Amino acid sequence: MSEILIRGAAAVVTMDPARREIAGGDVLIRGGVIAAVGQGLATAGRVIEARGCVVTPGLVNTHHHLYQSLTRAVPGGQDALLFGWLKTLYPIWARFGPEEMFVSSQVGLAELALSGCSMTSDHLYLFPNGARLDDTIAAAREVGLRFHPTRGAMSIGESDGGLPPDALVEGEAAILDDCIRVVDEFHDASEGAMLRVGLAPCSPFSVSRDLMREAALLARDKRVMLHTHLAENDEDVAYSLAKFGCRPGQYAEDLGWTGDDVWHAHCVKLDAGEIGLFARSGTGVAHCPCSNCRLGSGIAPLRAMRDAGVKVGLGVDGSASNDAGNLIGEARQAMLLQRVSLGADAMSAREALEVATLGGARVLGRGDCGALEPGKRADVAIWDVSGIEAAGAWDPVAALILCGPRAVRDLIVEGRQVVGDGQLLTLDLAAVLARQNLLARRLMG
Ligand SMILES: [Zn+2]
Repeated sequence: MSEILIRGAAAVVTMDPARREIAGGDVLIRGGVIAAVGQGLATAGRVIEARGCVVTPGLVNTHHHLYQSLTRAVPGGQDALLFGWLKTLYPIWARFGPEEMFVSSQVGLAELALSGCSMTSDHLYLFPNGARLDDTIAAAREVGLRFHPTRGAMSIGESDGGLPPDALVEGEAAILDDCIRVVDEFHDASEGAMLRVGLAPCSPFSVSRDLMREAALLARDKRVMLHTHLAENDEDVAYSLAKFGCRPGQYAEDLGWTGDDVWHAHCVKLDAGEIGLFARSGTGVAHCPCSNCRLGSGIAPLRAMRDAGVKVGLGVDGSASNDAGNLIGEARQAMLLQRVSLGADAMSAREALEVATLGGARVLGRGDCGALEPGKRADVAIWDVSGIEAAGAWDPVAALILCGPRAVRDLIVEGRQVVGDGQLLTLDLAAVLARQNLLARRLMG
């Protein structure tokens, strides 16, 4: 079996139970698995020199809408709140098809890889003009990231009092049929899986109570995870109180949407009772700090959730509400937001890094990922901290979050090198970007 030895790092950040950091550390990879972590390791295989670098587990992204990389910085949506922002973008998304889904996913996944992300989920909830979840899966296989796509859905259109236009919603029977199809065709429950499928009705304001309940039953029957948007902002909570007569957490619990096989995006407005519910039930949260800032949603109670024992990972969220997709940047933003709301000691750089790696892996139910320990999957990010961003830093690990860099030097996923010397090795990125820009111009008309 082929071996890779990452040798002589300024620090190896293991995220093991003792949170060991090894100065002058090495990581030995055999096949797709971490074989050893320590000092003075040897191999007959390939060596990657890591002098001047910090080595961490690959970062984990727990919330995205990859297709949105084709609608960044759209003028009408630049300064709108969530519901107005959605209403601007829905008609544009309605013109997407399979090619738009595939190319935009390639771009979004490449962007994540270059920012150190080895595993990502995606939430695709509209399927216009023959688009399918399969289009994003094909893109992920090319880029080489570990992928947890979720089959989203919207079923309540404008004519039924919902937010999306009728052309973007599907019938609920057809949604459930396609959920079964994609799980049966693509989901891999085995350890080390590169692809796991989840079920993800878009949000409580775009699908019925019935579909939420049916999706939960189906997910448990198929043993796959559940994902949706919850308590994103004040409008969202007000809608829940007016329409359902309860807060979002209560709504989720009533429909079977709590448990260690569920994770919710945003949760900016969870109150103390809902935080307790999530902690008790093992329900996970995808915290999306830049998106929350961008849409003016507020500051999620990350400190309170972590203190209560809620599983939290990071998400870049869709590229139309960030509008970047840089995951290491999200770790810094998560730390800064807790500090601006609670004080400078509210979150350390190391804790932000933990949320970005181990935290995300736990949210996605991946006990086999998120740490550099023998037996875990070989998802490794190598960060060059010898450049200008961190020049003069006294603590290379803290510098990674407090200073930079914002781009990974090398990224290994399941023992395969995806990024080398800051370049994507799996795709002709220039060709993909040219195709993306062509599609964007076509959408602009
Ligand atoms: Zn989202």
